Amino acid sequence: MKVYNVAIDGPAGAGKSTVAKMAAAALGFIYVDTGAMYRALALYFIRHGIKAEETARIGEALPTLDVSIEYRDGEQVVLLDRENVNAFIRTQEVGQMASLISPLPAVRKKLLFLQRGLAERTSVIMDGRDIGTMVLPDADVKIYLTADAQVRAGRRLKELEAKGESCEREEILREIVARDEQDMSREVSPLRKAQDAVVVDASNLTAQEVADRIVSLVRERCEKCR
Ligand code: C5P
Repeated sequence: MKVYNVAIDGPAGAGKSTVAKMAAAALGFIYVDTGAMYRALALYFIRHGIKAEETARIGEALPTLDVSIEYRDGEQVVLLDRENVNAFIRTQEVGQMASLISPLPAVRKKLLFLQRGLAERTSVIMDGRDIGTMVLPDADVKIYLTADAQVRAGRRLKELEAKGESCEREEILREIVARDEQDMSREVSPLRKAQDAVVVDASNLTAQEVADRIVSLVRERCEKCR
């Protein structure tokens, strides 16, 4: 049976995971959040007092670390050495550490293998920074999802407030701009639009509108999709 792959890339806070989840549910595909995998590794290094610049220690730790993904009631669960770490990886600190360690080739290599394996076996909507350019260059549909940095900061603030975390809007904006800069300027797998990606600017669109757009792009190419 043909497996379909959809790649969604874009900067932090553009709403990739929200719309990818909605579109995956509509299409009956599995949603794969690759950022969560980088975050799980970042969490490990934070917990063990390993700094991003300590590349030798990171290189030593990586082969002993087990990151895997399971789906429980349709939700992606990230397992770090078999521990469900979903509840610990959504903080600003972990996001920033993920961005700092993600340029390391050894880190990317470890996760690339896991990501490609998932997409070979099943139809997926996978989101991240380098999915259309590196991980799944032959994806059936590629989306580059972006939004104005102010809009992205506003959405992140709401998400954090909903979780009871207090944050300054200006600080979130600074963090988003810094992370964009790091992710776009790195030499290894930088965030950029794949040549054949469709750009969707979500600044003035609801999540449902973006998800509908993605679903219709997929259906145009994939007749059997629900
Ligand atoms: O998407 P999310 O904010 O969870 O990603 C955290 C960080 O992980 C990003 O800022 C980026 O540096 C890194 N990442 C990456 N490649 C991916 C997904 C995430 O480098 N495919």
